[in-house]
Amino acid sequence: MSEHDKDAQDSPPETTEPESPELEAAETSPVTQPPVIGEIEPVEVAQAAIPETLPVLPLRGLVVYPYAALPLMVGQARSVQLVDDAMRGNRLVALVAQIDPSVENAQPDQVRRIGTAARILQLLRRPDGGLMVAMQGLERIRIDEYISESPYLTARVSAYPDPEDNSLEVEALRRNAVAAFQQLVGLAQYLPEELATVVMNLEDTRQLIYLIAGSLQIDLEIKQEVLENDSLAGKLRKLNEVMSHELEVLELGRRIQGQAQEEMSKAQREYILREQLKAIQRELGESDDQQAEINELRDRLEKAKLSPEARKEADRELSRLERIPTASPEHSVIRTYIDLLISLPWMTSSGGEIDVPAARRILDEDHYDLEKIKDRILEYLAVRKMKHDRGIEGVTGEREPLLCLVGPPGVGKTSLGQSIARAMGRKFTRLSLGGVRDEAEVRGHRRTYIGAMPGSIIQALRRAGTNDPVFMLDEIDKVGSDWRGDPSSALLEVLDPEQNREFRDNYLDIPFDLSRVTFIATANNLDTIPPPLLDRMEVLQLPGYTEDEKLMIATRYLVPKQRGANGLTESEIVIEESAIREVVRAYTREAGVRTLERQIASLCRKVAREISERPVSKKSADLSIPLDEAEVDAAARFSAEAAPADVPLRHPGDPEDLKVPVHEAKGPAPAAVPETPAQKPGTATPDVPSEGAATDPVPRQVIVDVAMVHRLLGREQFHNEQAERIDRPGVATGLVWTPVGGDIVFVEAARTPSKEERLVLTGQLGDVMKESAQAALTCVRAGSIRLGIDPALWDQSTLHIHVPAGAVPKDGPSAGVTMALAIASLMTGRPVRADLALTGEITLRGKVLPVGGIKEKMLGAHRAGIRTVLLPRHNERDLDDLPPELRAEMRFIPVGEIQEVFDEALLPVVTEPVLEAERISA
Ligand code: ADP
Repeated sequence: MSEHDKDAQDSPPETTEPESPELEAAETSPVTQPPVIGEIEPVEVAQAAIPETLPVLPLRGLVVYPYAALPLMVGQARSVQLVDDAMRGNRLVALVAQIDPSVENAQPDQVRRIGTAARILQLLRRPDGGLMVAMQGLERIRIDEYISESPYLTARVSAYPDPEDNSLEVEALRRNAVAAFQQLVGLAQYLPEELATVVMNLEDTRQLIYLIAGSLQIDLEIKQEVLENDSLAGKLRKLNEVMSHELEVLELGRRIQGQAQEEMSKAQREYILREQLKAIQRELGESDDQQAEINELRDRLEKAKLSPEARKEADRELSRLERIPTASPEHSVIRTYIDLLISLPWMTSSGGEIDVPAARRILDEDHYDLEKIKDRILEYLAVRKMKHDRGIEGVTGEREPLLCLVGPPGVGKTSLGQSIARAMGRKFTRLSLGGVRDEAEVRGHRRTYIGAMPGSIIQALRRAGTNDPVFMLDEIDKVGSDWRGDPSSALLEVLDPEQNREFRDNYLDIPFDLSRVTFIATANNLDTIPPPLLDRMEVLQLPGYTEDEKLMIATRYLVPKQRGANGLTESEIVIEESAIREVVRAYTREAGVRTLERQIASLCRKVAREISERPVSKKSADLSIPLDEAEVDAAARFSAEAAPADVPLRHPGDPEDLKVPVHEAKGPAPAAVPETPAQKPGTATPDVPSEGAATDPVPRQVIVDVAMVHRLLGREQFHNEQAERIDRPGVATGLVWTPVGGDIVFVEAARTPSKEERLVLTGQLGDVMKESAQAALTCVRAGSIRLGIDPALWDQSTLHIHVPAGAVPKDGPSAGVTMALAIASLMTGRPVRADLALTGEITLRGKVLPVGGIKEKMLGAHRAGIRTVLLPRHNERDLDDLPPELRAEMRFIPVGEIQEVFDEALLPVVTEPVLEAERISA
């Protein structure tokens, strides 16, 4: 199409008015409505003739094509003037796109060379001075040369019509474009439906191209490219390319939206179905209960914080549950399982911060002494804190050592663990491994088994309620293994930071993260800890307490604790120091303080009972507990305190107390002068009696002394048997190490005449001890002459060595010297000194070899009333570890040769050895 219009002399319909400069806001810009198709005022494009010069109106942000009729806003002053001038003339302008739409008052080099000649159809003046102009695109033009730039751009132009092309290629491209455009109209919201029919009916390819290009929302660059392209095929190809890209984008968008909708409708469908199911169940009279139960579970599940894996599993099981009737056994299996999933602390942690000084305070608050242990624990905490603060927890690949507290029962292993938890701000949980032989106890049974349960690790975590507790593995030395599997391998997995992130319990069947748990182990005996576990541990030994230490622990910790636990106050019960000492000596024999605590609890309980049974009236001060004669003394004292109102009231801390014990008012006083630790002046109870006493004329305080201990706790359970046992030749006291602490053992030797020489061993002897006995015999026999033993005696003797069985097994090679001493004592007829005990191994040549467990043994010896100990010279340095009071009270004699033992331990002859032997055999 290249006909030119010559009809250019229309008169201007409006007069121009002066424009204000601030209207230079925009040269032209498209109005927001989509381009209007069809004529605003019918113009014969075919007739338009393009003059040689035209005013140039730069377009910002749009390209106008031939055939297009569209409104434009004109704001800038020079453009308004241009339009006005054009209106007075032929109404023709050149519309040319700006290269950069943001430039104002574009200069010749800032606009494109190719544009469109257009005719102004209508003009509307706006109140702000700008113009709304309806334009009709006529023909492609090329700017040849600018002839003026003021007041607006004017240029010499030439018409530049598109060459015609009726080739098959163009036809094919054109059909393609029509189809693509119709599809686009279906998808793109901004294209009016009618366009689909319009493009179908357009015959002129040029017109089609410009209509499509003009309606698409595409880049300005591309629009200009379409205008400038000199072949119809090129223009169509560009358009097809743009449209197919557009189609893809729109199609994708549609699919995404479709999916979202689908999901919504799926949820709605499920809801409706569930409602229907409920209705059906209601109709059938079936289980509103079941539904209620499921709803409750679902509610709890929503609130619980589960790991994504657990959540998925829980949802799955819940929908299974819905379909299974309540009566089915499987129902409760699933229900229990879901319960477990909900109650496990998947994401719940206490996450306390470690504060090392505070930890020190807590450890001191809860435990007396144990300095070395506390130091090591604090180091451990400090390292953890450091690593945590620097964000290198578990990063360095270094395994954290597992702390293992080793020692006899009742030395505070568990309570240290509790203090560590408190210091770390974590929960505390424990698992006793004593006697666990089955791996399934640790790891659980598969759910397919009837009565299957989760393993003890998962159960303990459920109890703890957080996923980062301090977790005490108690009695790790007592884990066994047999055909049911090896629990220690499961434990290894639990403790291995590489594996425990994904700990898999058979019952749970989903990995649970144990990596934040702090494990601590306890054991009585190092020797029986499975070696691979021991390998991972840092051992902290707690050997036991001396009598003085027990006294301090009792007064500072156990008495206040038990007093509170039994509902008593400081003003109601005072236990004298001498009384506590008596409890330690006569009612307990242990390395720790567990029985001591139990006995103190028993005292508190009994006192509480007496106080509550005490008659309110003055006269009937009659005790409900029957007293035997031995206890009259204490009873007298008790009633003296309890009954008469005329006796002055006593309170702990009352200075008068110390001088005039109340019981002096009646009968002889028991020896102890009350200087109970609880009576420190600072802790004195007020002079006002406790609430009960205010209404009750009977004073309520009970002071427990030695006699009262005897009365309340009954016959003493331990006494010093040393003197009784060592009363004749052939008995010696050995020291042994046992898992419950050090202890003494009486080794007895006896001889019976016989034809051949024999050695008989009885009692509780391990293999090692049997060998020791042989060595001891040979060694004593070799030294016969020096000891003054008739060598012939050996030939006609059966020698019998007996080590009595105690409550706990004893083994170990440390009884060699004791057996040698017993044999020597027997054969020489010289008894062993009664207050003496010994430990050590011997060689055949009579050398005394060092042994282990010295500290425990010395504590045990002291407990049993031994004050002199013979020990291997090489063990002398172990004595440095002993508590000072022990070293002060005991004498230690280091020995290197068995002869030194005999010299120290044997008393002069009391019986003829042979006679003695015959006496026994008789
Ligand atoms: P274990 O676990 O070693 O068998 P426990 O921790 O159960 O022993 O201790 C028994 C009792 O003795 C607990 O009440 C504990 O508080 C107390 N106890 C043990 N050692 C000490 C100590 N050094 N200071 C204070 N109390 C202690």
